[in-house]
Amino acid sequence: MSFSDKVRTVYQEQIKSIRDAGIFKQERFIHSSQAADIEVEFPAGSSLKKVINMCANNYLGLSSHPDVVKAAHEGLDSRGYGMSSVRFICGTQDIHRELEKKVTEFLGTEDTILFPSCMDANAGVFEAVLTKDDVMISDRLVHASIIDGIRLCSAVHDTFKHSNMEHLEKKLQLHADKRLKLVITDGVFSMDGDTAKLDEMVALCEKYDAMILVDDSHASGFIGKTGRGTHEKCGVMGKIDIITTTFGKALGGASGGCVSGRKELVEMCRQKARPYLFSNTIAPVVVSGVLKVLSILSGSTERRDKLEANTAYWRKGLTEAGFVLKAGDTPIVPVMLFNAKLSQDVSRDLYDEGIYAIGFFFPVVANGQARIRTQVSAGHETHHLDKALEAFIKVGKKYDILGKTKQEIIEKYGL
Ligand SMILES: *Cc1c(COP(=O)(O)O)cnc(C)c1O
Repeated sequence: MSFSDKVRTVYQEQIKSIRDAGIFKQERFIHSSQAADIEVEFPAGSSLKKVINMCANNYLGLSSHPDVVKAAHEGLDSRGYGMSSVRFICGTQDIHRELEKKVTEFLGTEDTILFPSCMDANAGVFEAVLTKDDVMISDRLVHASIIDGIRLCSAVHDTFKHSNMEHLEKKLQLHADKRLKLVITDGVFSMDGDTAKLDEMVALCEKYDAMILVDDSHASGFIGKTGRGTHEKCGVMGKIDIITTTFGKALGGASGGCVSGRKELVEMCRQKARPYLFSNTIAPVVVSGVLKVLSILSGSTERRDKLEANTAYWRKGLTEAGFVLKAGDTPIVPVMLFNAKLSQDVSRDLYDEGIYAIGFFFPVVANGQARIRTQVSAGHETHHLDKALEAFIKVGKKYDILGKTKQEIIEKYGL
């Protein structure tokens, strides 16, 4: 046997050290569809509990929307279940191209190419458009998938301090000799919910003749007046050279992603991006679902407006109750607890009160920055948010953190 006891021990020890460090991830099994109200089995083997979901990326409440489900059924019936091919061999249907056109229109770009996921879009895009004569300058808090994509590209890599425009400018000056320069950022940063300063970044890119890439996974569909994304919010539509985004969050939540932007860059991805060339195409059923999502969002801003109102309501409630929040205006609302164990205790007690919200701590966020990251959805009704608020207040009282400052919480619980 090749998987000998000695080999097994190597892995058992690694798994044990993950447990000992207190960072072992345990899955919770949801027995219902994704929505504001879900039924959860946790811990494994326990009976089902009805809880309110406060931590899904289901920002627009479209993951189980009847019209989207119906469109997916129609796609399944008319185009079949799978393509059994990558796009360039025999994996492109008319609806794949139609979706690329619709995404282009929605984002206000020149062209779009679909990828199996946004992780894959980020894994493929840099290598497809840059060479060793070029430089990538990324914000220090970009998503893990961008970090992986950067690793796969031969261009020089440098970073700038999070959202620090002076530092970015210094780096643009430092790399003035490179053939091409690409500035890279998330549109909305997933852990803090803050928005990149795209207007200032675009101005710097124009000044130093650099391109800009924005990963808008936590923005597409709901940020900006008509939900186009952070480029709309920051007034720079048409000025972002590359947008990568996912269909796995607000845009229906199934799966899939894309690179959208300048047509030459999209064409380079079609010719060279490896996750596009060597991984299966998005399933027709998902393509049909995303097409329906885009048609819903193009016809009305009702859902993103409701999300905005819900977010304001939720932030106001938590603030008045006396919690310490990360400032911001996106539906990512982090309730700061600073201490890792406290974040786990609060999360567990919230669950007992029927609220599903996960506590994050190092290494997912910086040391001493533990939090409950709540995420608001257009699928929440006022009664959901009121019940969640009631539970937060009850648990907040138990741990005596209401009305306490960051310093007071840290003094009480340590870091
Ligand atoms: C979720 C996320 C991704 C990955 O999206 P998938 O389509 O699920 O692979 C990429 N980038 C950012 C910023 C994300 O938040």
